[in-house]
Amino acid sequence: MTTASYQVHSALEAAELRVREAGEWLNLEDGLIETIVAPRRIIEVAIPFRRDDGTRDQLTGWRVHHNTTRGPAKGGIRYHHEVDRDEVVALAIGMSLKTAIVNLPLGGAKGGIRFDPKAYSRAEVERITRRYISEISQFLGPDRDVPAPDVGTDSQVMAWIMDQYSTGVGHATPGVVTGKPIELGGSLGRESATGRGVVESAALMLAKQGRSLEGMRVAIQGYGQVGSWAARLAAARGARIVAVADVSGTIADDGGLDLRAIDRALREGVRGVANAGVGEVVAHGSDGAAAVFGVDCDIVMPCALGDAVGEREALAMTATLVVEGANAPLTPAADRILADKGVTIVPDVLANAGGVTCSYLEQCQNFAHLSWDEDEVNARVIDLMRAAFDRFHGFATSSGLPLRKAATVLGVKTIADAHRLRGLHP
Ligand code: GLU
Repeated sequence: MTTASYQVHSALEAAELRVREAGEWLNLEDGLIETIVAPRRIIEVAIPFRRDDGTRDQLTGWRVHHNTTRGPAKGGIRYHHEVDRDEVVALAIGMSLKTAIVNLPLGGAKGGIRFDPKAYSRAEVERITRRYISEISQFLGPDRDVPAPDVGTDSQVMAWIMDQYSTGVGHATPGVVTGKPIELGGSLGRESATGRGVVESAALMLAKQGRSLEGMRVAIQGYGQVGSWAARLAAARGARIVAVADVSGTIADDGGLDLRAIDRALREGVRGVANAGVGEVVAHGSDGAAAVFGVDCDIVMPCALGDAVGEREALAMTATLVVEGANAPLTPAADRILADKGVTIVPDVLANAGGVTCSYLEQCQNFAHLSWDEDEVNARVIDLMRAAFDRFHGFATSSGLPLRKAATVLGVKTIADAHRLRGLHP
C-alpha cells in the first residue's frame, strides 16, 4: 500500500502524509522518514489560573518541538478555542518545513492554548500566559525553543513570555521569544513581515508567469496582522484589492477598496471590515467570510485560519493564483480541485515564511545587541524570501513536481541532509 491511499481526515494526517510522500519521492534510506515525521517532543500542560471574580479555572496547553536537528525549535503560540494537540503538531511540522525551505538555522515548533482570548480579560490572559510559560519554561530558551506570535497572540503576550522566562532564569533574556515590542528588543518590520512575504511571493510567482501585481484584482480573507499588511503592500505595488473578509463578513468593490478608510474605521473601534462603511457588504458574519472566495478576481490570498477553502469555495473561485498567507488554508479536496482547474498555488510553507524569517532576524539583532532600521530589516526579509523562492522554483521546475509537493520535498530533503550529517545518537 502506498501512503497516498490513506484516507485523510485531519490537518495532522494531511501534514504527515505530505511529509511521508516527500520521503517516498526522495527514497529516504533506513527509516529516516519516521524520524522526520515524529515530533521530538510533545509537551501537554494543565494551566490552572484565577478568574477576575476570584474563582479557579483551568485550561490545557501544548508546546510541540517537531524538529530540532538544524537549530533551536521555532514557532508561534496560538490562542484559539479550537486548538488541540493534533493541530499544534500539524502546525509544528509546517514550521520545520518553513525554516528548512528558507534555510534558516532553526527547527520547527508550535504552541497553543485551547481558549478564546477575547472571552477573557487582559489580566486573565496575562495570568494564563505566565502560568503556561512557567509550565514549559525548562524547554524554552534562545538555544532551545523560541516562541513567537500566532493566531490570538500579539507583542504584549510576547512581552509577558519574555518577562516570565527572564524572571525564572534571573536575567533579562530577550532572545527567548520573537515578535516582542520594539522597547524589549523586538524588530522593526516584524508586524508587516508575514504580509510582506506573502506579497513578495505573489510578485515572484507572477514574474515567472510574465505578469506583475500592477492592475491585478486581489481578494483577501483575514484582515488581521497578515491580511491587512498583504492588502496594503499589494495595493502599494499597483494591485486592486477588490474584496476583504474577516469574522464580520466580506466587503467588495471592483474598483478597489479604500484601505485607508477601512483602517481608519477599525482604529475608531468599528468591529470588523463589514461594519467599516466601505465597499459593498457581500455577506455578513463569520460564515460570510467565505464569500470572499467567490468574488471575481485574479489572485486570492487566504490569510485567516486553516481549512478556510473547502470544495465549495474552490469550485467558486475564479482566481488563477492562490497565495497561502495562513497556515494550511486549503483542505486536501480544495487543493485537488484548484489543481484540476489549473490554478497556481504558492504553498504556505513558502508564502507565509516572511514572519519566521523576520523572527530569525530579530534573534540575530538580539544576539548581537544591536537594532537595524526598518528599511534594512525589510530588505533582508525580501532578500531571504527571494533566495528561498528561487531555490524552490528552480527545484519545482527541474523536478517537474507540483508546487506544494516540490516545497515539501525541498523542506524534507534539507532536514534529512542535516540528520544524515549529524548521524544517529548514540
Ligand atoms: N506564527 C508564525 C508562523 O506560523 C511565525 C512563527 C515565528 O516567527 O517563529 O510562521
